[in-house]
Amino acid sequence: MQAMNSAGSDIRTTGTTPAWSSWYLTMPKLAVGLLVVLLIALLWLLQDNEKEEQRATLIADVLWLEQSFRFHLEGNAEQLLQLSLDLARSTDSDKLFDTRARHLLKTSPELAQLAWLDYNGVTREALPSHISPRQGAASGSTTRERTEDSFELAKKLGKPVFSRPYAAQGEFFFELHVPVYRGDQLTGMLVATHSIGGLVGQLVPWWFVEKYQLHIIDDDSTILASKSKIDAGPVTLSHQVALDPPGYGLALKAMANRVATSTAQNLIMTLIIFLAAAVFWSLWAIRGLMRHRLAAEQALRSEHAFRKAMEDSLTVGMRARDREGRITYVNPAFCEMTGFDANELIGALPPYPYWNPDEINRTRELHNRVLDGLAPPEGFELRFRRKNGDFFDALVYEAPLIDADNQHTGWMGSVLDITERKQAEELARQQEEKLQATSRLVTMGEMASTLAHELNQPLAAISSYNTGCMNKLDSGKYTPEELRGAMEKLGVQAQRAGKIIRRVHDFVRKSEPQLADCDLAEVIDDAVGFIEHLAQKRSVRIEREIPGWRQPLLADQVMIEQVLLNLMRNAIEAMSETPPESRRLSVRVTQHDGLIEVRVIDNGSGIADSVMERLFTPFFSTKPNGMGMGLNICRSIIEYHKGRLWVENNPDGGTTFAFTLPLQLP
Ligand code: ADP
Repeated sequence: MQAMNSAGSDIRTTGTTPAWSSWYLTMPKLAVGLLVVLLIALLWLLQDNEKEEQRATLIADVLWLEQSFRFHLEGNAEQLLQLSLDLARSTDSDKLFDTRARHLLKTSPELAQLAWLDYNGVTREALPSHISPRQGAASGSTTRERTEDSFELAKKLGKPVFSRPYAAQGEFFFELHVPVYRGDQLTGMLVATHSIGGLVGQLVPWWFVEKYQLHIIDDDSTILASKSKIDAGPVTLSHQVALDPPGYGLALKAMANRVATSTAQNLIMTLIIFLAAAVFWSLWAIRGLMRHRLAAEQALRSEHAFRKAMEDSLTVGMRARDREGRITYVNPAFCEMTGFDANELIGALPPYPYWNPDEINRTRELHNRVLDGLAPPEGFELRFRRKNGDFFDALVYEAPLIDADNQHTGWMGSVLDITERKQAEELARQQEEKLQATSRLVTMGEMASTLAHELNQPLAAISSYNTGCMNKLDSGKYTPEELRGAMEKLGVQAQRAGKIIRRVHDFVRKSEPQLADCDLAEVIDDAVGFIEHLAQKRSVRIEREIPGWRQPLLADQVMIEQVLLNLMRNAIEAMSETPPESRRLSVRVTQHDGLIEVRVIDNGSGIADSVMERLFTPFFSTKPNGMGMGLNICRSIIEYHKGRLWVENNPDGGTTFAFTLPLQLP
């Protein structure tokens, strides 16, 4: 009990409002959301960093390339300057030019042609001689003007000058003009024609073109040459630096494709999103579960409160025992009934403290029957002892205790304190007995005259036999046989008188019902004998319709006689308004379905519906001096004999009271 109560209080204390649960659910959701955002931000930062790194690398690579272009072109200019100086000093300048030009062309494959012009710009020598991009350019064309401008500029400045780029034979070129002096006098010009495509092919390393698309563009963004081994995909990064020399707006432009996110990164990203989705889903599922649980808890709390209220308000004692007979639960009503505290009862094994020491064996036997599952379904009565030593009568019903897993765990007994009921029953029984006795005495009063009349006959007979005997004795004329015969008859009459007196004595005495074999015809005869006097006085004819058989009947003869007398007296009284010639009282006996049915039929006033309802109610009477207990007692007596008493109004007037009695079947 205490365990249960504490469990109950646990339920109550944990029963806070569901607001906490929504917080418990929101917090992880927020945390997971934040985590996902942070992870995505981290990945984005990583990617951005990578991009920045790529950009820095690109810039460094482009700068390096520009530097190598510059070094190379400056190298070329240096060599040509040296050649120009050497040519001025040489005696066999043609040969020198030829040797050095060949060497230069070999070491710098981007050089399309190396030419030696005279002061007027006319070619003295050119290697290779068969190709001449600058000659291929039409005179008067922009290309020619451009190269001539550079020629003039170099002449004027007296130092190497690069020309503007120009297109020829489907390619782009630019020239390096290096003036040749003899002493202080300008004698000619060395012109190195650089193929831009050749330059790119020569100077751009393989690893560069594996990473970038490289273009050489002019100031109009026209691509003059390019080199790449990657696909021309969407460009995300590009960087350009001016290519000076040769200048004139030429620039190196390198472009990188989009930073390819690595497969691992993609996989991590996908996994993060997948996991986040899974966490959200599981949170959602938990939310559902929590709600379900909360609802169930709420329902449980209400149920518990309801049961507790019910349990506390019960006046029936409840007591649960496990299958070994150990008490596992008692309700407050049971504690109040026995006077013991729940702590004193829970865990107790037989004999329980409330068992009656005087009935210990019977109680233990009943207890064992209950544990064996043989408890009578209609319950059983026991006498228990309270803690203060008082006794009380209990009506106990036992039912199996089945737990949530459908397991039979013990027995639940409901105990009703029936002490008061039993006392009331006893009182009612005693009162009824007294009433019956009173009723019998009343009947007795009425029958006093009948008795006097009945006794009159044997007494008169005794008196006349006695007188006859005396006369005979006085006359002396007698035979002993005559006297004996008369005396015997006298004895019979005396016995008859004695029987009448005994019957009256039997009738009046107050005693417990005594069931014995009796003959119904005889009982009816006796009753009619008692009432006959009253019937004659009221001009009522009594008819008996009794079949010849004599069925054994187990009954209290005096009681059945009392019933018949009551019914017959009521019938006679009901016929006071009936014309005397038709006042008839019938007593009819029939047998059916193992029952004997007795009908007392009159043709009196009949019974009004309003009276009919209250007929068997104690103290209900329509007669001025009636006690109103007759029919009530009759019904009790017949029911005591396991029979039934009822009333019907006759279709042609009057009333029939009928009762059945079970036959004593062999
Ligand atoms: P009492 O005879 O003292 O009145 P009873 O219990 O024997 O008490 O009868 C109750 C009432 O039932 C009577 O007062 C009467 O009105 C009615 N009653 C009983 N028997 C008959 C009958 N045979 N015919 C009509 N009324 C009857």
